[in-house]
Amino acid sequence: MDQMETPLPTGTLARWLSGPRIAALPNPQDMPAPKLSFEFFPPKSESMEKQLWECIRRLEPLGPRFVSVTYGAGGTTRSRTHSTVARIVSETSLTPAAHLTTVGATKEEVLEVAREYWQAGVRHIVALRGDPPAGVGKYEPHPGGYAQAEDLVRGLREIGDFEISVGAYPETHPEALSPEADLDFLKRKIDAGATRAITQYFFDAEVYLRFIERCAKAGITVPIVPGILPVTNYQQVVKFSAMCGASVPGWMGHLFEGIDDDLDTRRMVAAVAAAEQVRLLQANGVDEFHIYTLNRADLAYAIAHILGARPKGAAGA
Ligand SMILES: Cc1cc2nc3c(=O)[nH]c(=O)nc-3n(C[C@H](O)[C@H](O)[C@H](O)COP(=O)(O)OP(=O)(O)OC[C@H]3O[C@@H](n4cnc5c(N)ncnc54)[C@H](O)[C@@H]3O)c2cc1C
Repeated sequence: MDQMETPLPTGTLARWLSGPRIAALPNPQDMPAPKLSFEFFPPKSESMEKQLWECIRRLEPLGPRFVSVTYGAGGTTRSRTHSTVARIVSETSLTPAAHLTTVGATKEEVLEVAREYWQAGVRHIVALRGDPPAGVGKYEPHPGGYAQAEDLVRGLREIGDFEISVGAYPETHPEALSPEADLDFLKRKIDAGATRAITQYFFDAEVYLRFIERCAKAGITVPIVPGILPVTNYQQVVKFSAMCGASVPGWMGHLFEGIDDDLDTRRMVAAVAAAEQVRLLQANGVDEFHIYTLNRADLAYAIAHILGARPKGAAGA
């Protein structure tokens, strides 16, 4: 047969071959098992309580590093947060972290809640300034209360040797004067004694990867754990993101276009979008993830599984 030069592909194939030749995402088997944490919110009704506990029980065998329970805006869930955390302590093998905010309470009242947690055996607090309840507008510290999370961190340090996580904002907190001022606030929270930051959710891996570069340059050395929000309700996320300063990329709108009334498809799309996001982060060396579960186990479990987490005691785990 004549030696013929291989013809250059044309048309569709040429287009597929014209981009950069990127290596495949790494095999999860070759990656270290991720350190995971899961976030829940305290239930408001019996049916929500049942859903939360089904979620906790499903995720428990994955052996997360900790699970956290949020504190409602304005401190509105104080007793529900406390009883959920207490039940996690007494009925599960999980390590709980209690969110605590400064809103609507004096310093002493806030520290009293922390003391109760310490006595109940809780050793991890997610320390936040908090937001005022819906409709109240701008945050105003309670007279005699903490003005910002940094001061709460300092107060907690005096109560006990808590592990303290704080919030971080890869796309800058909406009240920040500038990205630099926001980073400075974060650094001050860590210098005050926080041991980890957990980020607000974001959807573009690059946003987070650039942020941690900036953190490192600012001298921050504690883990800045990415907060992962699996999205099933696109419209709701758009509304919430506008308030908290997270951007929703155009591609996400496109992904969820035309499926508002089709929950099954939305859930599948959500799983793919979240899987792409975490695998990309994992490929860039990130091995610790905080998953906002919204008290639903299925997507959180799937993401953990994709990252390589397996139930403790299962083969290979
Ligand atoms: C992981 C995570 C978990 C959360 N959990 C809860 C929860 O359970 N309950 C709840 O109510 N909220 C929660 N939030 C939301 C959080 O309370 C809000 O984002 C709040 O607006 C800021 O809290 P912070 O602790 O980050 O505040 P801070 O660190 O005190 O401030 C955040 C930023 O706001 C700007 N800022 C604040 N004060 C000033 C000032 N005086 N002058 C200039 N700039 C200022 C700074 O840029 C600063 O970095 C959570 C957020 C995250 C990221």
